[in-house]
Parts: sequence; C-alpha cells; structure tokens
Amino acid sequence: MAKGIWVFAEQLGGQVKKVSFELLSEGRKAADQLGEELCAVLVGKDVAGLAESLGEYGADKVYVADNDALENYTTDGYTNVVADLIKQYEPSAFLLGCTVTGRDLAAQVAQRLQTGLMTDCIGMEIADGQLVFSRPLYAGKIFVNAACSEARPAMATIRPNTFAAVANPKAAEVVKVDANAGDIRQVIKDIVRQVSERPELTEADIIVSGGRGMKGPENFKILEELADVLGAAVGASRAAVDAGWVPQSIQVGQTGKTVSPVLYVACGISGAIQHLAGMSSAKCIVAINKDEEANIFKVADYGIVGDLFEVVPILKEELKKVLA
Ligand SMILES: Cc1cc2nc3c(=O)[nH]c(=O)nc-3n(C[C@H](O)[C@H](O)[C@H](O)COP(=O)(O)OP(=O)(O)OC[C@H]3O[C@@H](n4cnc5c(N)ncnc54)[C@H](O)[C@@H]3O)c2cc1C
Repeated sequence: MAKGIWVFAEQLGGQVKKVSFELLSEGRKAADQLGEELCAVLVGKDVAGLAESLGEYGADKVYVADNDALENYTTDGYTNVVADLIKQYEPSAFLLGCTVTGRDLAAQVAQRLQTGLMTDCIGMEIADGQLVFSRPLYAGKIFVNAACSEARPAMATIRPNTFAAVANPKAAEVVKVDANAGDIRQVIKDIVRQVSERPELTEADIIVSGGRGMKGPENFKILEELADVLGAAVGASRAAVDAGWVPQSIQVGQTGKTVSPVLYVACGISGAIQHLAGMSSAKCIVAINKDEEANIFKVADYGIVGDLFEVVPILKEELKKVLA
C-alpha cells in the first residue's frame, strides 16, 4: 500500500528553495495526522550536503539522487530519476513547489506514472483520511477543493508562500539512491543568471509592483527606491512589460509569474483579472491608484486613492523612518 508524503526539494546552485521548506513544514503536519513518513527527494550533483537542512524542517528521510548528469535541471533527467524512485518506494503523495521547475517536473512525472496532479494549489488539508488541495479557477474567480481519490501518489504543485516554513529539527535519515538519469534529450548550452541585489520575485516576501500608471520606464526608479527600503522585489503588470518599460521576467499574472508574498504593493495597476491571477493570494495587498473605482481596490487590504508620484515618495520616506 502506498505510504509516505514526499516533497521535491528543489535546489538551485546548492541552495534549497524556500518553498521546499514550506512544503516540508506543512507536509510534517499532514504526515503526523496520517501516521506516515515525511520524505524529501533531493536531486542534483554534489547535493548530499543539503540533506541536513531538509531535516531541519521536519523530513524523516531524504532520498538523495546525486549524479553528474543531474547537475542542471533537465525535464528528461529529473523525470527519469524521480519517477523511478516513486515507482520503487510508492509514496502516497508527492508535493512540489509551483515554480518553473516544479510545474515542469510535476506534469512529466504525473504523466509518466499515470496519476492525478492538482496544480497551482493554495491550500492543503486532510479530510476523510486523504489530502485535499484547494486551488483557484477562472483566474481566481472561484476556488475548488480537489483530491486524488484513487491513483497514487496524489500529486500537487503548491504556490510559494502558501505555508510558513517552520523549523522542526529531525536527524533525517539520508538514503543515497542509484540515480539513472537515462537518455536526456535536452542540451543546456549556457545558463545566464541575472545578477540582482533584490530577492527573486517568486521567493520574495515583499513585492512592489508597477503598471501602466507608471507612465514610462524611467519612473520605475521610484518603485526601486521603495523596494530598496523594504528589501523587496520589483514586479510589473503586463501593460508595463508590453510597453517595453521592464523585462518580461518581472511580469506578474496569468501569463507571468505567480507570486504569494506577505506584502504586495500595487502601484498604478488597475487589477485586471489576469493580473490578479498571479498575486491575489498575497497575504496583504496595498493598492495605490488615482481611480477610486479601480478593480484592484476590491482585493486590496489597504487602498490609497491618490497620485502614485506623490504617494510613493512619501511612503518611502515614512517607511525609512519607521524601519531605521
Ligand atoms: C490572455 C491574457 C493574458 C494576460 N496576462 C496578464 C498577466 O500575466 N499580467 C498582467 O498584469 N496582465 C495580463 N494581461 C493583461 C490584462 O488584461 C491587463 O491589460 C493589464 O493587467 C493591465 O495592466 P495595468 O493595470 O498596468 O494597466 P491599466 O489597466 O491601464 O491600469 C493602469 C492603472 O493605473 C492607474 N493610474 C494611472 N496613472 C496613475 C497615477 N499617476 N497614480 C496612480 N494611479 C494611476 C489608472 O487609474 C489605472 O487603474 C493579460 C491579458 C490577456 C488577454
């Protein structure tokens, strides 16, 4: 019988992504309730040293697949290894972060194993002895609860920042597995890393975002200044991206990145449904817009009706004083 809750420990450049710790923390609660083991799956090259950090967040066991061919993420290599491991150990559930890598891997593994996959989830609970996941539909207009009643493992990708990462130290048992990456069709020629002092958008606790109301690329500087005071990442609406003011890599929304920060400050963003789809699960939303009828105020926890070119600099100065 399938048993054990597994979490994909996503790592990049020797660092485990925060979402993996979040999934372990919540997975720990679920494992305890179900009386099952909580395990992490760590894939890469020279990654065994990261196993201890996974134990810090409650993993009973860490399966480590360490192989030269797994140095960089490839759909084929990681799918081959993870799917083989799941076939061998038969966990009841497999959770991944809803990140670029997590989404890609989850779809492939679910297809390979012919099991169910709930994507883009923003909640998880146990009902009638099984995991039930909640996720938005129609770009956040409604929410549904879904469970995978038969096929195993029940798989889900869960948005970063959905759960808190809570330290719960365990001396995790490390199981080194013979990882056969198989045939890898993808060829990685170059990895271009963006160098930025700011946190990565999908990992950021605070995001300051700008839309068409910013009026031009040069004005994003005032958002960057506010972001610097808050230690925040900078995001944008598609309108700002389409206008060529900022790169697509910082677009938030249905066709951009899904973010779930603790605080999202939306400046000159109207709140189109496609934008809300990427950020409405933020714990606290502050909207600055000169149109009091703007849709963004319907989802905002705090709304400031005013000209952002006046409000943002004042906010920055006041926050500087408070945070000094
Ligand atoms: C298939 C599809 C996918 C899409 N995907 C995305 C996506 O991923 N992300 C996304 O964001 N959009 C997406 N869109 C586009 C989306 O529908 C909207 O067009 C877009 O979000 C609007 O961006 P905006 O709010 O910046 O601009 P607008 O809707 O033009 O809003 C600008 C706002 O700025 C305010 N404003 C203007 N000047 C000031 C000022 N001085 N001070 C304060 N406020 C001011 C205005 O009152 C207005 O509310 C998608 C659309 C489609 C069809």
